Amino acid sequence: MSWEKKKFLIVVKAYPERSGSYGSTICMAGLTEDNEWIRIYPVVFDYYIKKLKFEKFTWIEAEIRKAKEKLKRKESYKVNMDSIRVVDTSLVLKGKTEKEKRKIWSKRREIINNNLSSSIYELKENWKKNNLSLGVIKPKLIDLHFRKPIDDIKIEHEKLIQKTLDGKKISVADQIEHKISYKFKCQDSKCSCNYTKKKHHNIICEDWELGESLRTWDYSSEEKEMKIRQKYFDEMKIKRDLYFFMGMYSQFTTWLIIGLFYPPKIGEGIGLSRFI
Ligand SMILES: [Zn+2]
Repeated sequence: MSWEKKKFLIVVKAYPERSGSYGSTICMAGLTEDNEWIRIYPVVFDYYIKKLKFEKFTWIEAEIRKAKEKLKRKESYKVNMDSIRVVDTSLVLKGKTEKEKRKIWSKRREIINNNLSSSIYELKENWKKNNLSLGVIKPKLIDLHFRKPIDDIKIEHEKLIQKTLDGKKISVADQIEHKISYKFKCQDSKCSCNYTKKKHHNIICEDWELGESLRTWDYSSEEKEMKIRQKYFDEMKIKRDLYFFMGMYSQFTTWLIIGLFYPPKIGEGIGLSRFI
């Protein structure tokens, strides 16, 4: 099968995962100008941090071809990493003025709202009908849940590994256990979370920034848990409109939160630069 050149906007970078042959890889997902979802892999972590380094909401162009995979997820493509080229950074926040940032958030919000699903129910239906395995929803937040005490969440540090084929050392990301999840309901009466008052979803979050906070924040465990809760729950509720990028595992038909999108609530947006 031949490569096809495609332009798309990277909206999700999930926390890097270990991969036998590549060290660590990053799950990236994006949207084309025609609002089609695309998942590309393998984006090798070592290659990304040395050569690519682009921010979320960068428009890139790359050669891709349909991936062969067990579940036949419709949006999965193999990418030719050497072909990845940044074409437009107008939606990236870094280096922009406050006024520009406000415009960027509103443009981003428009793109995401054009691709919004109402619920997990709808995502599951899309999977059944069209093998769609990516989407974005706007949850009604209930809680941020630590599935084990923060001290027991495993973080495996390993900076370099030997690459077996040519003997070169490559960087790999620290491996973290994904044990933080969101409890939420959807805004859709058809979804099982709304069958009774007590029901809700409780889904693991693999967002890169959340992983980084867990991995790098230097506080006592009690303080760290509090700070994570503050940033990823309290402030999301008060100052932000939180959306979840949802994606399906490659091996099972289980849904995960693969990334967070959190524009300032309309009318906010001042004094929030530490988020950006
Ligand atoms: Zn639901």
